[in-house]
Amino acid sequence: MTDSQTDGVVDAVTVDVLIVGAGISGIDAAYRIKTQLPGKSYTILEGRDSLGGTWDQFRYPGIRSDSDMFTFSFPFRPWKSSKAISEGSLILDYLKDTAREFGIDEQIRYGHRVLRAAWSSVDATWTVDVEVGPERRPTTVTCSFLYLCTGYYSYESGHQVQFPGQEDFAGQVVHPQFWPQDLDYQGKRVVIIGSGATAVTLVPALADRAELVTMLQRSPSYVLTRPAGDGFADRIRKWLPAGLAHRVIREKNAALAVAAYKFLRRWPAKGRALILDGIAKQLGGVLPVDPHFTPRYDPWDQRLCFVPDGDLFAAIRERKATVVTDQIETFTEKGITLTSGAELEADIIVTATGLKMVALGQVEVTVDGERVQPHDTTVYKGLMLSGIPNLAWCVGYINNSWTLRADLSAQYVCRLLTYMDQHHYVAAVPELPAGERGVSAGPLLDLASGYVQRATAILPIQGAVAPWRTRQNYLADSVGLRYGRVDDGAMRFTRANIGARTPVALDR
Ligand SMILES: Cc1cc2nc3c(=O)[nH]c(=O)nc-3n(C[C@H](O)[C@H](O)[C@H](O)COP(=O)(O)OP(=O)(O)OC[C@H]3O[C@@H](n4cnc5c(N)ncnc54)[C@H](O)[C@@H]3O)c2cc1C
Repeated sequence: MTDSQTDGVVDAVTVDVLIVGAGISGIDAAYRIKTQLPGKSYTILEGRDSLGGTWDQFRYPGIRSDSDMFTFSFPFRPWKSSKAISEGSLILDYLKDTAREFGIDEQIRYGHRVLRAAWSSVDATWTVDVEVGPERRPTTVTCSFLYLCTGYYSYESGHQVQFPGQEDFAGQVVHPQFWPQDLDYQGKRVVIIGSGATAVTLVPALADRAELVTMLQRSPSYVLTRPAGDGFADRIRKWLPAGLAHRVIREKNAALAVAAYKFLRRWPAKGRALILDGIAKQLGGVLPVDPHFTPRYDPWDQRLCFVPDGDLFAAIRERKATVVTDQIETFTEKGITLTSGAELEADIIVTATGLKMVALGQVEVTVDGERVQPHDTTVYKGLMLSGIPNLAWCVGYINNSWTLRADLSAQYVCRLLTYMDQHHYVAAVPELPAGERGVSAGPLLDLASGYVQRATAILPIQGAVAPWRTRQNYLADSVGLRYGRVDDGAMRFTRANIGARTPVALDR
């Protein structure tokens, strides 16, 4: 990397690979580039003042993973805790330790928010406009390859719903993404609006100290209990070296998640019956399964919610928490009036109404002066975008741990860059066959969940067949992304054309 650097602020930097985002995906990408492409320079630009992304931002009580940590952790650094479902603080420590251990932390430039990225085909270079620090000082970074590890939601705001009469409520309204660390809920009546992963996590976490926690939902989600520990992992870690044990547990758990997903999609009625039967047993007759835990859709039409050791159901059985399935008519001074006419009194209302999804970290992308709207592109191999050269966006699985695909994507980027170097190519652009778009296109994330539906118009789309289909299948991707042909007929490569004003496209 060439730069002039003062106080962590970088001017006129040129790197081979620019990673945007120092969350789990950015750290994974840095590790792969460092170890697989030691000759390449890279740096990470992070808009916030600390690393960890999601695991640094979300601080609500009980914040934890809902995937198992053996698949959510990196393949190259074993997860050593006995907890298979881990609290957020341990995940953040693990990310910090990983970045430190591999010297990745030294390459992170904090307080660097990327605003725009402009590709020039003549120079085969990205020019990236960045805003630095609270004073928002503009600076520029150039790179050959731009890897956006920016996650999938806005850090500035959650999905805000303005409820009727909200200003009349005399208590406190809190959004989980911006949890006040000094919020005192001891002995208070808390109503949590929502039925997703955040709501089912918050209910048992608040139930111990609050007077009563009520989860108020318009419609329920599927809630599955999974063990907080992993007996198989505990046993095998006694016998095998840490690295090998981690690999075995990771692959086994990832494969099981693929199989469970396939089963539920193939036999939804059977799957639904099994899930609802399990919930009925856990509720012990304290609440009816229908309507409170009986979704109107099939499993995996929307994300499933997982609760460790059934902690949500335990709080309900102990009558520290309850569920109300109804609609909000209006907020009142004392709480909420429901469409059914019922009143819910509350001291604190938590609006677990979801995330605001964004594409490409809200970076404005232009290619040779033309603005590219993410929604006008089709995702290639789950990470690059049609018509945009030398750029990838890291998006993890919706039905398995995010990190599984983040790591495969980073490995693919390294393979692509190696291939380009071997053939003296300077640019690689996925090119959609004429007429492909629109014929078989579907949304990038094939989920009916509200937060995905709200974002459909801004997200890239996917096609029906490889390499334009974004598979939600770790086993298929781990073969395809690691061993599939780089020069697959859909990627167009170009070589630098010294002296000319336009690059020359090479025959494949
Ligand atoms: C509460 C919660 C719990 C979750 N639990 C799980 C789970 O158990 N299992 C699972 O698989 N997934 C889970 N997810 C999804 C989760 O977001 C991912 O698993 C993972 O943490 C995403 O990592 P990431 O590095 O890709 O993105 P993020 O963690 O979102 O990090 C992105 C980083 O990029 C930075 N950034 C973004 N745009 C810019 C820009 N323009 N310029 C500079 N910097 C930028 C951000 O500041 C941030 O630090 C959860 C999500 C949430 C919100």
